Amino acid sequence: MADMVVVRKEGLYCVPGQFYIDPWQPVERAVITHAHGDHARVGHGHYLAAASSVGVLRTRLGEIHIDGLDYGATVEHNGVTISLHPAGHVLGSAQVRMEYKGEVWVASGDYKVEPDGTCAPFEPVRCDTFITESTFGLPIYRWTAQQQIFDELNDWWRKNAAQGRCSVVFAYAFGKAQRILAGIDPSIGPIVCHGAAEPINHAYRAAGVPLPPTCMVGDVAKADLQRALVIAPPSASGSPWMKRFGDYSDAFASGWMQLRGARRRRGVDRGFVLSDHADWPGLLEAIAATGAPRVIVTHGSIPVMVRYLREQGLDAAGFATEYGDDEAVEEVAQAPVQAAVEESGDA
Ligand SMILES: [Zn+2]
Ligand SMILES: [Zn+2]
Repeated sequence: MADMVVVRKEGLYCVPGQFYIDPWQPVERAVITHAHGDHARVGHGHYLAAASSVGVLRTRLGEIHIDGLDYGATVEHNGVTISLHPAGHVLGSAQVRMEYKGEVWVASGDYKVEPDGTCAPFEPVRCDTFITESTFGLPIYRWTAQQQIFDELNDWWRKNAAQGRCSVVFAYAFGKAQRILAGIDPSIGPIVCHGAAEPINHAYRAAGVPLPPTCMVGDVAKADLQRALVIAPPSASGSPWMKRFGDYSDAFASGWMQLRGARRRRGVDRGFVLSDHADWPGLLEAIAATGAPRVIVTHGSIPVMVRYLREQGLDAAGFATEYGDDEAVEEVAQAPVQAAVEESGDA
């Protein structure tokens, strides 16, 4: 049987279904796995995504023609039965299951296997071919349980607050920022969010995700800033927006902080290894749970993962895609709407 999903210049394409998955060029029909800028772009004629991601997608992309599909519900398109299943990456993130003439393919999008309180936990889906990400697909990537990371972050914040010093965490505005909010101890002090993160916090709360109270920097008395935790996107680092925090301590939260020297290169006081992607054991566990004899790797450490899977007896290959890295220490390309929000973040 011919391959159900292939790579075209516009993106991953479901041949019998005649639709794209997370295309990087404008197309008529796009199924979107999640609202990060490199997977969800502007300009498509029609969008299909998990119902719980519609709010964030609209916040980031503006007015779009979109259908939300509940996890596990099915819709048929040109004879292909489509359903979406939780990927555990960010609010509304989904794996795309496609069934055609008895054959099943699943495209994972980005995923994380450790459950957290901000999105539906990853759910393995049996399939014949699994298209997987591999952002942290090297054996050196092994995450510490998130509670320990949050304990360390709270200790750091508490110590700074006791010394009258503001704590600034640089974290990606969508997903990572909300996960930090859900994990920290809000009794330590006020929580300030940059204008890039605050509209997304609203979208999370509207979707029923409990987050502690947050405010914009202008809403906090100057004296209280000394006890505050500030969550800001990496692009705010070194910008005039930072000046008001005086003598602050800063940190970066990303899976890449596990790399030796990453914290120093970034020039921050602390690095917290907190990722919204599966680590090496998590990727292997997720791949095994699909039962798929064939695996296609889309982004991240493609050659290492492909070689490893072949050694395990799987039929493995890579797809060349234009997906980026939403945990990058340097800021990744932002959707235009978000860039505008960020610009006005000074208010
Ligand atoms: Zn992502
Ligand atoms: Zn990705």
